[in-house]
Amino acid sequence: MSSSASPSWSPDSWRSKPVAQDVEYPDQAHLTKVLSKLEALPPLVTPSEIERLRYQLGLVQRNEAFLLHAGDCAESFDACTGQNLSSKIGLILSFSLVLLWGARLPVVRIGRIAGQYAKPRSSNYEKLADGRQVLSFRGDNVNGLDPNDRTPDPERLMSAYFHSTTTLNYLRGLLTSGFASLHHPRDWSLSHVRSPSLRQEFETIIDGLSDALDFSRTIGADAAASIPYEQGGGRGTLGEVDFYTSHEGLMLGYETALTRELPVPPSTLDVSGSGSPTSVSAAAAAAATSPAASGPVKAHYNTGAHFLWIGDRTRQLTGAHVEYFRGIRNPIGIKVGPSMQVDELVKVLDVVNPDKESGRVTLITRYGASKIDDHLPGHIRAVQQSGHPVAWICDPMHGNTQTSVSGLKTRHFNNIISELTSSLRIHTECSSRLGGVSLEFTGELNDEGYSVTECLGGSMELSEEELELRYQSFCDPRLNFEQSLDIAFLMSNHFKK
Ligand code: PEP
Ligand code: MN
Repeated sequence: MSSSASPSWSPDSWRSKPVAQDVEYPDQAHLTKVLSKLEALPPLVTPSEIERLRYQLGLVQRNEAFLLHAGDCAESFDACTGQNLSSKIGLILSFSLVLLWGARLPVVRIGRIAGQYAKPRSSNYEKLADGRQVLSFRGDNVNGLDPNDRTPDPERLMSAYFHSTTTLNYLRGLLTSGFASLHHPRDWSLSHVRSPSLRQEFETIIDGLSDALDFSRTIGADAAASIPYEQGGGRGTLGEVDFYTSHEGLMLGYETALTRELPVPPSTLDVSGSGSPTSVSAAAAAAATSPAASGPVKAHYNTGAHFLWIGDRTRQLTGAHVEYFRGIRNPIGIKVGPSMQVDELVKVLDVVNPDKESGRVTLITRYGASKIDDHLPGHIRAVQQSGHPVAWICDPMHGNTQTSVSGLKTRHFNNIISELTSSLRIHTECSSRLGGVSLEFTGELNDEGYSVTECLGGSMELSEEELELRYQSFCDPRLNFEQSLDIAFLMSNHFKK
């Protein structure tokens, strides 16, 4: 519909480009069969929801909201339980509440959830302790963690679809039944937070929030304005929260199967106010309002998630992933690491957002605490000069991964904080603004109610020896509940100043 989806683009046009991180299926016919079945299954998310998120990310770009992007490095099918999902959502909500309280800005919440199964790998093969070499584990939607189950199986894509559906169904239930209401933050389970000061700080916020919501209700401020849903209105009750899903758009066959050409919600096309935050390209708007236009304006939506991102290993300018991403209407993220050249960054933006539409692109920077000063200022300046509207998000996790003495993949809390505070500082120095964070954390607890021990440090001062106690990640190490709240308070306090 916009020039971004030029005639040469189709949901399949990526197939003629080199596919980084490609998975080789031994049985192609089986793969084709699974993909055609997926094409016929219902969408998981709707254009209205996707447009609403685009609108809200436009607010993030204009410093009117803050983005929290968080969840597991990779979800697993086995971890898809009611208890785990409630804990994950509870942590995302708690974190966003702390931020909201300090920053006094709406927080847009996007979970790495309901589809975050595939993983890029640095090597196609893994050498086992017994000397065998097997294919690397590529995520539950490709092969098994068990070294004897590493042959890619297309049925796993089908299973990913249904696990995503189940997850989303449960999330939607939680969101509409009061669990996610800001009126009941105590439901988000703080029982296991052992640090009395952390608990106290959180309780103070909850009390303040309850008072504020009561007051707003009293003066009638929670009446839903007659703003269209896609433009952020229409929810009706103050204290209700939005929640969006995301995953790395790595498995392009799957993404294509869930890509559907659907009508753009009419309110999105309302470009009467100049610079309307959700405005589609001028060409599309003209088509929509032209008397000659036949039928509704349509666009290609990836209906498998609200938000998708391109990983640092698959963002090649002429590669398949950038080709696929340029044609979908969803808001997208692009991971930006130390190897991203300044001109390359602007070229990618030109390709995926030629009309410089608001809310479309989020840049997720992940350099590492020791490298951020070398790269972020140049990237910010280049984007500023290009005139591209972007939201800048700091991912302080992926550039700070290290191996512990005992051989476990871990991250030190201090490095995470260091990259985050550098990012805040550098944005200010460059007259830019950090619009949010992208974190790998989990509220998951073990049977005894203890949180995971995968990252070092934090107010709980997790030590190297303690890592093995409850190391549950089969992928990247995640912050646990307390370590995450530490970060939330740090950011909240920063924005309070
Ligand atoms: C991730 O987000 O889990 C990831 C693999 O990130 P990156 O592409 O930035 O390495
Ligand atoms: Mn990760």
